[in-house]
Amino acid sequence: MKKFILLLLVGMVSCSIFGTNVKRTEAAQKVVCIDPGHQSKQNSQTEPIAPGLKTKKMKTTSGTRGVATKKPEYVLNLEVSLKLRDALKKKGYKVYMTRTKHNVNISNIQRATYCNNKKANLTVRIHADGSTSRNAEGIQVLYPSAKATQKINSTSRKAAVNVLNEMIKTTKAKKSAGDGLTPRSDLTGFNWSKTPTILVELGFMTNPAEDRKMSTKSYQAKLVQGMTNGVNKYLK
Ligand SMILES: [Zn+2]
Repeated sequence: MKKFILLLLVGMVSCSIFGTNVKRTEAAQKVVCIDPGHQSKQNSQTEPIAPGLKTKKMKTTSGTRGVATKKPEYVLNLEVSLKLRDALKKKGYKVYMTRTKHNVNISNIQRATYCNNKKANLTVRIHADGSTSRNAEGIQVLYPSAKATQKINSTSRKAAVNVLNEMIKTTKAKKSAGDGLTPRSDLTGFNWSKTPTILVELGFMTNPAEDRKMSTKSYQAKLVQGMTNGVNKYLK
């Protein structure tokens, strides 16, 4: 009887190990590209906002800054992005990052091209919001809606819906900008993308309470858990 129980146990353990391996191999075929928004120095040279367009925008802007923490947005973006990278890797995804340092000089076209070249199944751009009102709060997820991105508009929207819903579940944050889903046709980083892409605004750094919250370990874990669940749902 003891032998039987032992055999049963060995069987259960090897099954679960095998099960994890299968899951990892499947997920390993999927690629996620993370683009932590901004960098320590803005690049005010300009580049076309979409292929073939004459309208130009700055290559990389400096982003917003925490009113309470005084933390620049590019620092928060990378903090959360590195945690997201680790969480997605744990799930077995292949993860690429457009930057892992602050002192870089990468334009939005270059960021999009980098993720195109990695054949990303999904690109997640990480940003934080700013507003003239200190009361503005909550999460919104942007997705492409331009003519230049016709091929990825609806798939990107699907990813945005999944990620937003899962983030609201884990963080209990409000949705900003109405329903929290914002189509954009004017973002260089979207318009040069050939693969599905979303931009997550984690919350408002101009809201003192939300700014402080976003820099805590526990809230960052909730943000990351929500994004990971959303990416998982979309890529499954
Ligand atoms: Zn930003």
